Amino acid sequence: MSYIIPASAASWIPVQPGNDFPVQNLPFGIVKTPALPKSVGVALGEYVIHMTALFDAGYLKNLPFDRADFASDYLNQLMSKGKQACSDLRKRLFELFKVGGELKESADLYGTILLKQADVTMELPLRIGDYTDFYSSREHAFNMGVMFRDPENALLPNWLHIPVGYHGRASSIIVSGQPIYRPKGQQLPVENQPPVFGPTKQLDIELEMAFTTFQGKPLGESITTLEADQYIFGMCLFNDWTARDIQKWEYIPLGPFLGKNFASSVSPWIVSLDALEPFRIPGPVQEPKVLPYLEYSGNKHLDIKLEVILETEDGTENLISKSNYKHMYWNMNQQLAHHTVNGCNINCGDLMASGTISGTTPDSFGSMMELCWKGTKPIKLKDGSERKFLQDGDTIIMRGYCQGENFRVGFGEVRTKILAAK
Ligand code: CA
Repeated sequence: MSYIIPASAASWIPVQPGNDFPVQNLPFGIVKTPALPKSVGVALGEYVIHMTALFDAGYLKNLPFDRADFASDYLNQLMSKGKQACSDLRKRLFELFKVGGELKESADLYGTILLKQADVTMELPLRIGDYTDFYSSREHAFNMGVMFRDPENALLPNWLHIPVGYHGRASSIIVSGQPIYRPKGQQLPVENQPPVFGPTKQLDIELEMAFTTFQGKPLGESITTLEADQYIFGMCLFNDWTARDIQKWEYIPLGPFLGKNFASSVSPWIVSLDALEPFRIPGPVQEPKVLPYLEYSGNKHLDIKLEVILETEDGTENLISKSNYKHMYWNMNQQLAHHTVNGCNINCGDLMASGTISGTTPDSFGSMMELCWKGTKPIKLKDGSERKFLQDGDTIIMRGYCQGENFRVGFGEVRTKILAAK
């Protein structure tokens, strides 16, 4: 069973109201300092709970975790203990750090168990075995259909029946803070002429979220929409970098390849599904009716506010999109049920991205392609320049949070700077 930390609760570590990491959140990541090797960390306000130090101090007894689960380069080993164990671990942390909790504030906790977030570096949280990207926002699929195919039949005939997806590349998924080089590849600037080779002229983002899984079932078995929650550990922000000109020339007939696989960026904190439970909302009415294996009950969509910021080299932030994860047509339970319905197995630490999350209004679209409508409506920036696609030196920042009454459960950010082609 999931464990929901009461909305009224507070930690003895003070947390400002706009902070992403109150005691209701307690997201997991991998932290490192110049003095300490990689370890599981949990964010709390401006601090990180160093989980290996907490274990060594004897505060995590009577839980099914070993020291090696925390003194690890990735979260996978901790996640391999399963949903119940991870829920119990968060509950234990709440009992230790809540006001009046078991752990009492003392000076010797600081610098050992409690580190300032500013003093640690965040590492890639997962050893990602397989990465899948869905295409589950109706508005995004519609917009792309209007721009590239047929405005009258923008959605392909399968779209309302299948949570469409493809298998992506796990090796090039990077953590927030790591820059990318502008990718090079083949493009076809003029129809019916030979292709050219060079740096992409149409570097784009895709505003997405991703979920990571616990160990699934053996090959040949399926996960139902009802069971799906038990196989989802948590979520992070996801920027699916895309070179549109490379993509356009290569994608027929087998879909995304070099236009996508040069990099995808993730935020470093994995917010557990338990922490997101209070922000469940109903999904859209799905018409036509879906096949029985995709039917679900209860509120399986989530209200997560999302922002995309373009930071120019002078450090000025330009808000270019405001969207929300609630715009998904297909929810995670349906995605996971569809992914495994043919017997495909999933493993601990797999990553499943949502697809670009576009809202209904032009300021809520999740890619430059849509925001600038195929280059016809450039975005004006504060420094007076314009963008149709991204330039070298631009930094893209994505932020997201769920708003509670007096607190927010946030994801932090995923931040990536674009460097000139190598
Ligand atoms: Ca995508």
